[in-house]
Amino acid sequence: MTEALLRRAIELAATARASGNPPFGSLLAGAGGKVLVEEWNTSLTDRDITAHPELKLARWAARELSPETAALTTMYTSCQPCGMCTGAIERSGLGRVVFALSTQQLATLKPPAPAASFELQGPALFDEARLPVAGYYH
Ligand SMILES: [Zn+2]
Repeated sequence: MTEALLRRAIELAATARASGNPPFGSLLAGAGGKVLVEEWNTSLTDRDITAHPELKLARWAARELSPETAALTTMYTSCQPCGMCTGAIERSGLGRVVFALSTQQLATLKPPAPAASFELQGPALFDEARLPVAGYYH
């Protein structure tokens, strides 16, 4: 079952490429292996840098599944999720991710990306910034 579902994710990656997008696809399967939803990368056609299939599925799971069901749901994906998607998956409550290509294997198939960087400043204005947060979690 795992290989069949991974092969479907790889097919979705080919669909993404054929539609003019980066070649990545993913799906969610329930505890019994039934496919719940499928997605592929649409970051170019949507002009949306967050339109990775794993992120779309994590958002879907958090919105549509109970925490108990999400914990029993597996994401099958054509490539190991990136940092952005990993953060969303952690928040989604999904119980398992199975991937085909690893990040290291992907790196052998594409030119190295320039290291992204940005300036991060903070902390600042603690007394003001704490006001909307204080008491929220208690
Ligand atoms: Zn991603």
